[in-house]
Amino acid sequence: MTFHIDGTDKTVIAGGVRIGGGNVPVRIAGPCAVESRKQIMEIAEIVKKAGAEFLRGGVFKPRTSPYDFQGLGWEGLEYLKEAGEKTGLPIVTEVLDPYHIDRLVGQIDLIQIGSRNMHNYALLKAVGETGKPVMLKRGMSATIREWILAAEYLAASGNGEIILCERGIRTFSDYTRNTLDLSAVPIMKKETGLPVVVDPSHGTGLRELVVPMSKAALACGADGIMVEVHNNPEKALSDGPQSLMETGYRKLVSDTEMFMVKKKV
Ligand code: PEP
Ligand code: MN
Repeated sequence: MTFHIDGTDKTVIAGGVRIGGGNVPVRIAGPCAVESRKQIMEIAEIVKKAGAEFLRGGVFKPRTSPYDFQGLGWEGLEYLKEAGEKTGLPIVTEVLDPYHIDRLVGQIDLIQIGSRNMHNYALLKAVGETGKPVMLKRGMSATIREWILAAEYLAASGNGEIILCERGIRTFSDYTRNTLDLSAVPIMKKETGLPVVVDPSHGTGLRELVVPMSKAALACGADGIMVEVHNNPEKALSDGPQSLMETGYRKLVSDTEMFMVKKKV
């Protein structure tokens, strides 16, 4: 069997931005969830002003409890789009349901498949058929091989525009929400050639660890970092404790400035 993903270095272009292939690392930032028009507009301005290439925001949220905030759905997408247009930032959001794909793809720049859905092969096939740039997050208990094969599902369905995202795995260690497996960065780059982004927000669950782990991710070759930013984390409807405030995000940008250069490949 010949694999579609064969380790050849790949640049993915999403929203006009080049990711991977030795290009300058990208900064994806925004709230866990779009909560209101005002909230996403304010956060979009914060991350744009500080330095970000993409605005993220969940509109359909895969929450552990069915009683927790599930996202604003299509209404949230309208606000996310408006915030993206106002700031000029391309937008990223997660798809949960294969039935949403057709409506979603034309409206966003990068489609996210979340950790809980990395093993959802129907969803992978359906997103694969769109050819839309996709960011595939690592399943929280997925091995390297399982993750590569999930990406292969996308590629085999016709979509080679894949970005991988390491977001931490479950281990016995319980101080942090997950254990951020930074060894996956050079491993996945070597094995797949695909761009690899790191999400230290879900990877640690702790705001104070986001800046140091972002630096570590970029030092070991990550092609981008995705972090959660909120204008009022205390009141956030999801993931407040891991969300950076404006000052924290500004610090992240200045502390990682040295990595914002093209890499030798
Ligand atoms: C997210 O990025 O919004 C998210 C839900 O993360 P994960 O799928 O990694 O849990
Ligand atoms: Mn989150």
